[in-house]
Amino acid sequence: MIDTHAHLYSEQFDGDRDEVIQRAIAANVTKFIVPSTDSDSFDSMKKLCDAYPDVCFPAAGLHPTSVKENFENELSFVEKRLSDGKFCAVGEIGVDCYWSTDFIEYQRIAFEYQINLAKKFDLPVIIHAREAFHEIFTILDRIFTPNIRGVFHSFSGTAADYFKIMEYGTFKIGVGGVVTFKNSNLPQIIESVPLTDIVLETDAPYLAPSPYRGKRNESSHIPLIAQKIAEIKKISLEDVDRITSETAQTLFVL
Ligand SMILES: [Zn+2]
Repeated sequence: MIDTHAHLYSEQFDGDRDEVIQRAIAANVTKFIVPSTDSDSFDSMKKLCDAYPDVCFPAAGLHPTSVKENFENELSFVEKRLSDGKFCAVGEIGVDCYWSTDFIEYQRIAFEYQINLAKKFDLPVIIHAREAFHEIFTILDRIFTPNIRGVFHSFSGTAADYFKIMEYGTFKIGVGGVVTFKNSNLPQIIESVPLTDIVLETDAPYLAPSPYRGKRNESSHIPLIAQKIAEIKKISLEDVDRITSETAQTLFVL
């Protein structure tokens, strides 16, 4: 299985990072996409990916909650790194109206800029959309070209948002621990989503699936998410593994 979204460089893993990765591999989760969020997190992300080639795959981007006054410097940092390194995606990028809208105009500019970086470097994008689908669709509708592709990570929208995403024809949705939460509307949406539109993710160290909800999340929990999807769609865990892994490999060229 592939964890398409794991912040394994996070300081929450400083004490046992290697064990966390070995535990995931023992649970048959063998590849991890590791997105940085700003220039501060970039070095630890890169160091981890260099230590685990062909296991940890780097992505570089400016996360919407890291967008502030210095966003232009941060964007040139991302562009510079993308131009001299090998990355599987531009991410994570997006718009977040949940945590704060103080820098919403900068968030819009940063998102559009990084979509254009993805065009320039011909890379997929990892999109964070939190209470911001309308913002994101408005920008995408204006600048979309068919080589813009990627994943709406930790998808949290409505069925209408899902259908709108699919209209572009080049995006998948990332499904993580939220699908196992009791009060989640995600299982209902997933029921009618083709498995080929889904990739698995943890967003570790955040959003641990039940029965670990509220605790530190890690990539070895991916099978719990896959199992839940298998139950919703009444198919085998093996099919969920095979099809979502194929989708992730193709999209991110892992
Ligand atoms: Zn993330």
